[in-house]
Amino acid sequence: MAVKREPCPFDASRRLKVEDLDGKFHVRCRTCGAQGPERGSWAEAEEAWNTRASQSTGDGDGRRRQ
Ligand SMILES: [Zn+2]
Repeated sequence: MAVKREPCPFDASRRLKVEDLDGKFHVRCRTCGAQGPERGSWAEAEEAWNTRASQSTGDGDGRRRQ
């Protein structure tokens, strides 16, 4: 839970939230709706988001909405 969330790679927003859907967690940007990779736990979802945000190239595991 102490994981620091990187800002959104698309709009640099820090208005992020973690959503859970049937036991799958992902981080979503409240500003543009970008969604991070789904993982099995809250912490893993945040880590996956951070990895994606820092790479900023995308791995096809999320969607860009512009
Ligand atoms: Zn965003």
